[in-house]
Amino acid sequence: MRMSYSEMKKKCPNLQENLSSCNCSYTSCDKTGLCCQCVHYHRQSNEIPACFFPDHAEKTWDRSFRNFINVWKDKV
Ligand code: SF4
Repeated sequence: MRMSYSEMKKKCPNLQENLSSCNCSYTSCDKTGLCCQCVHYHRQSNEIPACFFPDHAEKTWDRSFRNFINVWKDKV
């Protein structure tokens, strides 16, 4: 059986450091601070985690590839 996210958080040695650099505004997410699970979750939906977006774009909660490209296309 898979470990719960709360159990993973208890065991993750990087949790506090991850939280200190997380800009995600979706406060009810159970994966916050578990970057590996965050990437896995969004990748399954062809999405990108919050921290790849600037804050103004992150707040829309649109984590799609399309939004990522729209946000960055003129900045890189
Ligand atoms: S980016 Fe998604 S999975 Fe990651 S903490 Fe925010 S809502 Fe949760």
